[in-house]
Amino acid sequence: MIGVLGGTFDPIHYGHLRTALDVQQALGLDEIRLVPLRDPPHRDAPLTTPRQRLEMVQAAVESNPLFHVDDRELRRDGKSYSVDTLRSLRQELGDTLPICLVMGSDAFRGFADWHQPENILELAHLVIMQRPGEAPIDLYRQRITNDPAQLKTQRGGLILFQAVTQLEISATGIRSLIAKGRSPRYLLPKRVLKIIEAQGLYR
Ligand code: ATP
Repeated sequence: MIGVLGGTFDPIHYGHLRTALDVQQALGLDEIRLVPLRDPPHRDAPLTTPRQRLEMVQAAVESNPLFHVDDRELRRDGKSYSVDTLRSLRQELGDTLPICLVMGSDAFRGFADWHQPENILELAHLVIMQRPGEAPIDLYRQRITNDPAQLKTQRGGLILFQAVTQLEISATGIRSLIAKGRSPRYLLPKRVLKIIEAQGLYR
């Protein structure tokens, strides 16, 4: 069973990395795939190029064999819809392997408005990480399970709320610090900060 965490990663930070590791450990996932999105449908365009974001994600996970960077969305033109990502992953991984689409509770809040949510649930489970300050969400109640073992019994269709380390870190907060000339140190890996500084990103 694998986990897939899509994101703009503009830039990637410890709020992504620590929580993704929490999910990997709690569910015993074989790997977490980080999928940088080219053009996320529900938000403003990223400030940096796909190449810069990919470079930062690769630098962030370089020393962790459990994390893999998957650049398929950056190679594809147009909007990055999760349903398309999952269909493409299914072609690679086959029809039966359980896939967990991992997202923060802020992302899940808008899930019903995503492109083809029912098809997403047909292709994968959802694993929701609680983000600081997010109220509980009442959506798809009949699909919710509290038992991680159940996720391994089918390829998708279930929703699990996973407790994770509460880190009030956001890419927006990091970009805003840098724009004000302040340091984002200790909010993200040093290697990522080095790339930001060397290329003068977010100033
Ligand atoms: P931005 O501030 O630019 O919106 P972000 O920090 O939320 O960015 P994204 O790349 O949009 O980062 O997030 C990718 C995924 O990671 C989303 O599902 C989001 O909910 C989740 N996520 C981001 N930060 C955290 C965090 N601190 N704790 C838990 N989940 C997070």
